Amino acid sequence: MAENQLQGGQQYLFLPEGATRILGREAQRTNIAVAYAVASLIRTTLGPKGMDKMLVSELGDIVITNDGATILEEMNVEHPVAKIMVEVAKTQDKEVGDGTTTAVILSGELLKSAGNLLDKGVHPSIIIKGYKMAADKAREILSDYSYTLTISDEDKLNQIAYVALASKNVGSDASKKYISKLTIQAIKQVAEQRDGKVVIDNDLIKIEKKEGGSVDDTEFINGVLIDKEVAHPGMPKQVKNAKIALLDVALEIEKTETDARIEITSPDQMQAFLEQEEKMLKSMVEKIEKSGATAVFTQKGIDDIAQHYLAKAGIMAVRRVKKSDIEKLSKATGGRLVTSLDDLTADDLGYAGLIEERKVSGEEMVFVEKCKDPKSVTLFVRGSTSQVVNEAERSIKDVLGALTSAIEEGRYVIGGGSIEIDLANKLREYAAGVGGREQLAIQEFAEAVEIIPKILADSAGMDPIDTLVQLRSKHKNKDGKVYGVNIYEGAIADMNKLGVIEPLKVKEQAIASASEAAEIILRIDDMISSKSRPPAGGEGGMGAQGGGMGEAD
Ligand code: ADP
Ligand code: MG
Repeated sequence: MAENQLQGGQQYLFLPEGATRILGREAQRTNIAVAYAVASLIRTTLGPKGMDKMLVSELGDIVITNDGATILEEMNVEHPVAKIMVEVAKTQDKEVGDGTTTAVILSGELLKSAGNLLDKGVHPSIIIKGYKMAADKAREILSDYSYTLTISDEDKLNQIAYVALASKNVGSDASKKYISKLTIQAIKQVAEQRDGKVVIDNDLIKIEKKEGGSVDDTEFINGVLIDKEVAHPGMPKQVKNAKIALLDVALEIEKTETDARIEITSPDQMQAFLEQEEKMLKSMVEKIEKSGATAVFTQKGIDDIAQHYLAKAGIMAVRRVKKSDIEKLSKATGGRLVTSLDDLTADDLGYAGLIEERKVSGEEMVFVEKCKDPKSVTLFVRGSTSQVVNEAERSIKDVLGALTSAIEEGRYVIGGGSIEIDLANKLREYAAGVGGREQLAIQEFAEAVEIIPKILADSAGMDPIDTLVQLRSKHKNKDGKVYGVNIYEGAIADMNKLGVIEPLKVKEQAIASASEAAEIILRIDDMISSKSRPPAGGEGGMGAQGGGMGEAD
């Protein structure tokens, strides 16, 4: 259908009342502006000198964070294109755990550059093609400029962890080094060798958190921390060399679902009934005792009488434990989940050097620790307020993601804007060899990538353009390739020497999701919204407040 036909007065006939439609160049312009506005919002959070954002929800909950994905998620954006940008951050977060801000800033920058090209009359399909070529080439270049590492390169792992933490507000330098150390310890404990490759399942690292203390009180637990209390005060609060039964059994007399009724006509019968019940519960506990278990964790409930007998037998028990926790306990202690007490044998029991109920900030928690080579461990995050604890948790997740990506892929690149300079230089070279208008798009792609060193320089109080010029020329020499922005000194410096390195995968994923998002957004030339909206700017969401294009470079 030709466009002018669509734009005829009849076009709204098939749309509900109040529906809006934006077409062609206008749609692209609006969408680019929105995407850029979203990216601009978080650009000040990039890097170690980046700022935090405080977000207040409708209910008044406060989140203070530096994490790109969290900021965008908490913002509750309205515009569909803004939502796509949020998706970029989420994908990055899910795939690699770190680099969310970078990915979103890159998307915004790619779109802004696309806007320039559109203004010059370059067709969107040419831009998309050029961007695709550039993204493919970028992957090659990144790989060429990466270095290898293994899980035993303690120094490198510490550097990667520290850089991932650099921009987070989680205490002093020493605290960050401490958290890096704990996280590496956790990863090493759960890492497995499979077909000659190291595989790390982050789900095996439980992050438990509790307000109170400081970030420096964060602990690595060689086992599992259960946020529950011991069921009965008469039970031991501490069991050494524990033999652990993991149950999906209710230590209760199951009430039947149907409307069965028991007629009791005399006190004797009542007595007999209760005795029978007690006998059944007692026999359940005896089965546990017979297995040799000294501690019990069950997903279901434990009747008061059963608790009493367990206590009498000196067995510690915890009830209503989450299924996911039981699974972790199984991985940590080597115990097998048993669904019927008749099946419970000594072979099913797990082992922990120590199980102890401790009071943490006024609440009881059960520590299952000193396990033998556990395949599931816990990081117990502490901090003075809920904001601190939550940001520490998010930061630890970033570190886990970064370390996992680095170890699994076995490669890293130089950070601090260094890799981006190589990427841009090489893309420009590549563009020169590509004929046609795609060349223009590849050049714009190269420029867009340089936004990262530019922002880093800016945040260090350096002149972004001068810094870029210096870095570009430095990188032309073989021994200058490691140069990037030394944020703390406000000068360019050897980033390798400073230990500013990042997982290759974080950069690969950021480029991939940014260019994909740019493509998706550029392809749209018709926006139909059946939801009636107040005029631009009238709504609480992002609206089209993208007027800030071209600001602050
Ligand atoms: P993201 O969400 O993208 O990970 P960050 O706020 O963590 O955003 O910032 C990451 C950027 O900061 C990377 O480009 C990284 O190389 C850079 N960076 C981290 N530490 C330093 C440092 N000490 N000096 C210079 N740049 C750094
Ligand atoms: Mg980061």
